[in-house]
Amino acid sequence: MTRALFLGAGASPGVPSISCGFGCCNPNNPKNRRTRTSTIYEIGGVRILVDASPDLRAQFLDNEIKYLDGILITHAHFDHIGGIDELREINRINHKPLDVYAPDYVMKVIKKRYAYMVMDKRNKQEYIRDGYSARGGVKVNVVKPNREFRLKGIKIVPIKLLGHNVPSCGYIINDEIVHLGDFRYLASSAEKLINKIEPQLMTIPLTVMEEHIHHAGLDSVLQCIDKFKPEQAVLNHMASECDYDEVNRRTPENVQPAYDNLTIEW
Ligand SMILES: [Zn+2]
Repeated sequence: MTRALFLGAGASPGVPSISCGFGCCNPNNPKNRRTRTSTIYEIGGVRILVDASPDLRAQFLDNEIKYLDGILITHAHFDHIGGIDELREINRINHKPLDVYAPDYVMKVIKKRYAYMVMDKRNKQEYIRDGYSARGGVKVNVVKPNREFRLKGIKIVPIKLLGHNVPSCGYIINDEIVHLGDFRYLASSAEKLINKIEPQLMTIPLTVMEEHIHHAGLDSVLQCIDKFKPEQAVLNHMASECDYDEVNRRTPENVQPAYDNLTIEW
């Protein structure tokens, strides 16, 4: 069985946001209250987190998440890596470092910003001596677009995304899930790889309703889904421009907007 748990469905400011509150979103609909995006996929008992939201602490507490097999990061914006420090708590429970997978442009930022957590030879000794000490550990695994790797036996292929204002990637997980980070277009190499599979689930950021210089709008997002025909698609990473009911009304039956703690199983 595969389970997808959408811990947070919001874009970088969250909804409500400090600057414009609920914006276009109906404040009376609890599905419009969104923390920043993190997603968990559980495949045959292997639990993978995609992106580490700054709201990770509350999300893990709400869902009693105390264990992870690995973390995939799509890009180095704060709303996707701001929760890495919270992973020390998972280290504290599991007494072992956590495998983080990301392209080199993300790892450079992680190593700089979370230097005290990144395992290297010097840190390793201290970590082992101290077990679950102040030095929580993340183990760096640099991945490359289009190059398959295994996470606890699960096949994962990073795919290249274009048009965001920093380099961004997505992941094809177990030939059944396509998870996209922030994007405006897919690289042609990514399209080729997705075309080789029949996705059960496509997780795709909507962010804003209208086309934006750095984000695909609703029309492009729906075109992208239509191109690859996944069994179902979930739109996440929605800012306050994206009212839950309005998005739901404008999407076909196999596409739904995410809300915090939405769970899907197949
Ligand atoms: Zn983002």
